[in-house]
Amino acid sequence: MSWSKSQLQKSARSAHAEIRKSRGATRGASKISRAAVTQGGRDHMIRWYLERARPWLAQRVERYRRRIGVEPTGLSVQELGYRSGSCSKAGCLNFHWRTILLPPGLIEYVVVHALVHLIEPHHTPAF
Ligand SMILES: [Zn+2]
Repeated sequence: MSWSKSQLQKSARSAHAEIRKSRGATRGASKISRAAVTQGGRDHMIRWYLERARPWLAQRVERYRRRIGVEPTGLSVQELGYRSGSCSKAGCLNFHWRTILLPPGLIEYVVVHALVHLIEPHHTPAF
């Protein structure tokens, strides 16, 4: 999926609006610390990536699960620490929100890797 120019402009406008809001907040309320504003900005960016990563990953999962012949029970995008992706015992695929920052070919590798774990849970030669 590639982004249209209008989608990119809309995202840029909303990001600028958020920056203006946070600047206003720092001027208006001196009690808000710089650290709190920085954390708020980080949280906002993570939410932004989470929202965009989910449909992008879901589309890839759908494409490759058919080719591999597996049926994941769910898909979640979250903070996964050092892992880019994981597969629960119940068959739910989990992806780190940062996955979306990788080049598309690597994201597809992460998706296929997680899907193959539905067949073989461990990194054995069979995997
Ligand atoms: Zn693995």
